[in-house]
Amino acid sequence: MQPYEKPIPEPDQVTAPFWTAAREGRLLIQHCPACGVHQFYPQSSCRGCLSDNLEWVDAKGKGTIYSYTVVHRAPNRPFEPDVPYTVALVDLDEGCRMLSNIVEVTPEAIRVGMPVEVVFEAISPEISLPKFRPIESS
Ligand SMILES: [Zn+2]
Repeated sequence: MQPYEKPIPEPDQVTAPFWTAAREGRLLIQHCPACGVHQFYPQSSCRGCLSDNLEWVDAKGKGTIYSYTVVHRAPNRPFEPDVPYTVALVDLDEGCRMLSNIVEVTPEAIRVGMPVEVVFEAISPEISLPKFRPIESS
């Protein structure tokens, strides 16, 4: 594996379960039994009702593109080989929204509302990043 020079997430007490699951190819989100909300990113309490009794659940890993932008000018050198790349807000079927990249498709083919599914990119022995690719229409 080439040295990875982009910022690497640092799991903490709240986010560690998310990163452990991502390494296993699973997308975990938080669920609040008290009010029924799913949330991402991981937090220590529920955004809906402030309960701190949250549980982790496996998301299906499917959603749709809410919005996106195409980056043509790298913010710094480690991102230069990636341009043009797409940064998108993805609405998961469970109802929460994730910021991620859309991969395995040219930026020109991306559309708002496009169905996508999660894929994981291993960037270190400990960390895999969830990204999204279009779902093949059959
Ligand atoms: Zn709640």
